[in-house]
Formats: sequence, structure tokens, C-alpha cells
Amino acid sequence: MTDFATSVGTEVKTYQQFIAGSFSSTTEHIEVLNPCTEEIIALAPRGTKDDADRAVSAAKAAQTDWGLLPAVERAEYLKKMAQVIRENRVFLAETLSTEQAKVMGLAQVEIDVTAVYFDYYAGMARTYEGEVINSDRPGEQMMLHKLPIGIAVGICPWNFPFFVMARKIAPSLLTGNACVVKVSEETPMVCLEFARLIENIGLPAGILSIVTGYGHEIGQALSENPDVGIISLTGSVGAGHKVMEAAAKNITKVSLELGGKAPAIVCKDADLDLAVKAIVSSRIIYSGQVCNCAERVYVEEEVYDEFMTKLLPAMKAVRVGDARTDDKADMSAQINKTQLMKVDSMVKRAVEQGGEVLLGGRASQKFNKGYYYEPTVIANVEQHHEIMQDETFGPVLPVMKVSSFDQAIDYANDSDYGLTSSIYTNNINNILRATKELLFGETYVNRENFEAIQGFHAGFRKSGIGGADGKHGLEEYLQTKVMYIQQN
Ligand code: NAD
Repeated sequence: MTDFATSVGTEVKTYQQFIAGSFSSTTEHIEVLNPCTEEIIALAPRGTKDDADRAVSAAKAAQTDWGLLPAVERAEYLKKMAQVIRENRVFLAETLSTEQAKVMGLAQVEIDVTAVYFDYYAGMARTYEGEVINSDRPGEQMMLHKLPIGIAVGICPWNFPFFVMARKIAPSLLTGNACVVKVSEETPMVCLEFARLIENIGLPAGILSIVTGYGHEIGQALSENPDVGIISLTGSVGAGHKVMEAAAKNITKVSLELGGKAPAIVCKDADLDLAVKAIVSSRIIYSGQVCNCAERVYVEEEVYDEFMTKLLPAMKAVRVGDARTDDKADMSAQINKTQLMKVDSMVKRAVEQGGEVLLGGRASQKFNKGYYYEPTVIANVEQHHEIMQDETFGPVLPVMKVSSFDQAIDYANDSDYGLTSSIYTNNINNILRATKELLFGETYVNRENFEAIQGFHAGFRKSGIGGADGKHGLEEYLQTKVMYIQQN
């Protein structure tokens, strides 16, 4: 038993928030459920405006000195974070898997990649740089400096809670900002366990606070705080609207990574076995709850029948099971009942609009408890149907026949979302056209959708503003200042 998380009964832990270098209690809590068993497994703090203000004040008090440290010294703390993650990798993966129904293999990947992520950004300490610019005046030097913005607030979703938390912490701390992370109320455990693990690595108090609670409460309070310099949200378009509204009050910079409705285009020359394998794995990874999952499929009519003949058995073979106890499961339960109902109601409306369910189409009957949905394939869908337009975030693949590659591109772009896309083809002209004509932040050719840490994960249209990862993701946390120095 620790002072940050006390056991109640045998399993239920009561967590505390990590603010200004120590753990503190709240009077109200939010129940955290295991989505596979519906059991309460933890009580997480329901953070308040006071908690938000305390975290921001502590960040403000600590940031100036932190920002003046050489970046290599700040990088040492990121390396320590990577180290404690590696030392506790199995425990963290088990915690993650239990609170969010992520199959253990994928949960372990998330934990391990997060350690790599901290090391990756630590390695940038010596490489991010300003510029020296030629001046128009004799004896003058012009220098462009990259300075921290000040206080960075990171607001995180439940689907990759550990990795996305690191996506906010690593670049903001390396560049000299103080950081307040608001983790999701659905999946706070693994992030608050991380707070415990880094409590004694020597980070100055206030440089990093990890808080939790509801978005409209502590999330809103953080977004409205005038001392905050940047708010980086990963979440739904709805939350993006709210954060932008709050940020507008103080002209606070926002970086938004929002939802997606990723199209997958299967061309008539595609390797169909490869396309089926990649699309199925892209659709069922974390039970369909990934922002860049294939959400809609367009298949050229010449190969539509053959594609469907291969797709259906592949989707049928997907094994659904308890994330913690079934080590052969490909996917598990949806995060909560609301998400399960949302997926189910979207499928029902797709059928009302004329769609034909070829596989699944209902909550799983295999389990007595838990929020499981069957892997689902829907045909006879039309471009204007809700299932082709709105993010489903579940294991549901609507598939549409198209008459040409031109039509596939038109339909793919006909979306409010513009996060990721994929195309299956061996035709170089199709690939070259997709480079310029598919209007999405990422396009994957002949592979499933999953980004790399050295890339730039960013969405077009309502999928967001700004982005994360790589050197461009680091720039989000910097502001540019020009010095004009006149020699006497
Ligand atoms: P969500 O929008 O419900 O919540 C995300 C976070 O925002 C949570 O911490 C929540 O508490 C907070 N929030 C909600 N309302 C807020 C408000 N008014 N002010 C401040 N904070 C607020 O999203 P979710 O259900 O946790 O995650 C799923 C969504 O996230 C999907 O749409 C998915 O596509 C998207 N997502 C996008 C990416 C990406 O990289 N683009 C990555 C993961 C998830």
C-alpha cells in the first residue's frame, strides 16, 4: 500500500493526483471499470478547478529555472522516465490492459514504445536549433532563437493513454516548458502509476503534474487558465471545439489531434490478400478504437467480389476475448457501455438506410459480462450514409464498390475528417496521384495504418490543428524570437 493509491477491499485502489511534486487527495472520485468484467477496479480523483489552478501555479513558479537549464540536462529526466518504464514494463502493461481492455500484446507494445519515445526526444536535446540570419545593416547580427512557450497543458484520450501522455510530456519538457497533463477519466490508472514511479527521479516540483477528472471540469479549467501557453488535446472533435472556445478567451495556442474516418482504397491491381490482411488488422486493432483505424473501404468494381470473398472469412476469424485472460484474443471489449451502444446504434441506422450486414452486427453473445461487439462487415452502403461519414470507433467495416479510382479519391476526400488514409495498389501512377490528391495528414501505401515516432501525426480539416512526433512535433512547444544585435 502506498500513500498515492490505497487499497479498498482486495482490488479497488483509490488514487491521488500528482500536483506540485506530491500526491494529493480529492473529496470526490470517479469509478474505473474493467470493461471485460464490468467490475470496479479503482477510484480515480475527480479533479477540480482548484486542482487545475494549483498545478498551473506550481508550473509557473518552476518553469523559468527549468527553461534556463541546458536541454541536455532536461533530457536526463526523460531518460530516467524511459528507464523506470522499462523496469516496470510488465506491471504497467497489465494495469493498462485491465483498465482499458487492450489485449496484452498490444498493451505491452504501447508501454515499450512509450519508453522509446522518451529516449527519442531526449536524443533531440543537441539537435533542435535556431538560425543566424543575414542582416541588411552593417555590423548587425540577426539571430532567431527557439524559446519554450512556458506552461503546456496536455489533455489525453483513453485509447492510447500511456503513449499519448508521453506525447505531451516528452517534447514539452525537453524544450523547457513545464507541463500539466490531464489524463482520461476512463483510464487514469496506468498514468497515475507512472506518476508514482517518477516521484523520486529528482524532477523539480511543479515541472510535471498529472491530474485527472472530467473534461468539462478540470479539463475546462486548465484550458481557461490565462497562465497556460499551449493546450495540446488529443480527443474527439467535440472536445476540440470546447478547448478552442476556452483557449480563445486568452488567445492560448492550441494543438489538436482529433478524430478520423480513415478511408482504405483497394485498386483493381492490388494484392488482395495483402489488402485484406492489412485492412482487417487496421480495423480490429484495439477493438476498432484507434483514430487511424480503417473506418470505410472503397473497392474498385473489377475486384469487389473477390475482395469480399477474402474479407469475410478473415473478419470471421478474428478472435474476441478477455484482454487479460485470453492470450490468443485479437481484440477485446469496447471501452465502456456508452461506446458499445454508440457502435450498435450506428450499425442499426446503417441497416435502416439500406446497408446489409454480412457479418456480426450486434453485441457479442459469447460473454455474460463486458462490452463486447462482434467484428462486423456491412455492404450496400452509400457515401451519404452516416456509417461512411461519422467516426464509428468500433470493429465495423462498411465496404462500398466504386466505378473508378477517381471516384474512390472523391469519396475518400468527401469527409469532415482528414487524419489518415490508405491505398492498396501496385500502380505507381495511383500512388503518385494519392500523394497529392488524397487530402489527409497521412497516407499509407500497401500497409496498415500506424504512425512512426519520427514522422508527424497531424490531421487535415476537422481532424486537427498542428500535430505530434518528430522534429515538427517538437516545434509545437517552441516559440520563435528574433534578436537584432547592433555592433557599436
Ligand atoms: P474525448 O474527446 O471524449 O476526451 C479526450 C480528452 O478530452 C479527455 O481527457 C476528456 O476528459 C477531455 N475533454 C472532454 N471535454 C473537454 C472539455 N470541455 N475541456 C477540456 N477537456 C475536455 O475523446 P476520447 O473518447 O477520450 O477519445 C476518443 C477520440 O479521440 C476519438 O475521436 C479519436 O479519434 C480521438 N483520438 C485522436 C487521436 C489523434 O492522434 N488524432 C489519437 C487518439 C484518439
